[in-house]
Amino acid sequence: MSKFFNKRTKNLIPYVPGEQPKEGETFIKINTNECPYPPSPRVIEAICRSVNESLRLYPAPDAYVARKAFANKHKLPLECVFAGNGSDEVLAFSFLAFFDKNKKVLIPDITYSFYTVYCDLCEVEYKKISLKEDFTIDVDAFVREKGNVVIANPNAPTSMALDVGEIERILKAHPEDVVIIDEAYVDFGADSCIGLVDRYDNLLVVQTLSKSRALAGMRIGFACGSKELVDGLNRIKDSFNSYTLDRLAIVAAEAAIKDDEYYESVIEKIVSTRERVKSELVELGYQVLDSRTNFLFITHKEKNAEEIMGYLRANGVLVRHFKTYRIDNYLRITIGTDEEMDKFLSLIKDME
Ligand SMILES: *Cc1c(COP(=O)(O)O)cnc(C)c1O
Repeated sequence: MSKFFNKRTKNLIPYVPGEQPKEGETFIKINTNECPYPPSPRVIEAICRSVNESLRLYPAPDAYVARKAFANKHKLPLECVFAGNGSDEVLAFSFLAFFDKNKKVLIPDITYSFYTVYCDLCEVEYKKISLKEDFTIDVDAFVREKGNVVIANPNAPTSMALDVGEIERILKAHPEDVVIIDEAYVDFGADSCIGLVDRYDNLLVVQTLSKSRALAGMRIGFACGSKELVDGLNRIKDSFNSYTLDRLAIVAAEAAIKDDEYYESVIEKIVSTRERVKSELVELGYQVLDSRTNFLFITHKEKNAEEIMGYLRANGVLVRHFKTYRIDNYLRITIGTDEEMDKFLSLIKDME
């Protein structure tokens, strides 16, 4: 460990992103939940239109047109919407803004592993709430326990979702705490709790354009909540980096949010591929959790997940495996195009 690192840096256990192939490598990439289809042509046009001399100027620090588009779509007041450089940044700002040493953060024991990384970075204690045996979130435990709350809904990597009514029970039980609901995958078949924002001042909903809007490469995330919570995020942002979205990201976000028609058809394709792949995997003896996302979380009683991953990788297909307790015999399979999934399925069948 370098002598130049401070205590904070020394103590960090950074998040490990899924493998991104190097230049020249051609894998079927179904390991990081990216969208297999391109962004809307209108998004590409909007970006191209903005590649001009105006890039010498700073972008709007409040990412106005992007936030306006998000606010209009969800019928929210503009001051209840925050935009950041990917929802990871929005989450990091939220932890910095609302959590500290004096109160624990409650998170599911199996969830997006960035949450505990942010807790450590911000020196916040967390308490893991065990998923139930069937991998659903234990809502009663979240209602019972004291502390701020962070839940991904649908949850990752389990792919399963809670109903809005269940989230509402948690909100009611935590009036003095901040409840963050990370809806990275909500567009693939779960219900958003954005509709609760005007009734619960303790609710912060986080969304991203990386998954269902095919813009992982642009880094655009949003949060919405009470004006109070969004003010808190702005205090952090303006003490850290005033220009979180660049000029191209701002116009891309606006165009993506406005092109519902294009994205609805993309989502429909992904969901129908998901259901087809799921039934084929079940046919092959795999257990597949009930997915409301663009990925499947699968296991096989007689097969070793890590071995399957290695076999797939050797044959040009990347999937994700987490060496974590309870889920170390599971694989997370992103839904790609039908052709990509056929290749994946034929490899899986050849293993028999
Ligand atoms: C992908 C993902 C994110 C991060 O999304 P970005 O906007 O690309 O930073 C956040 N939360 C969950 C649960 C995710 O799966």
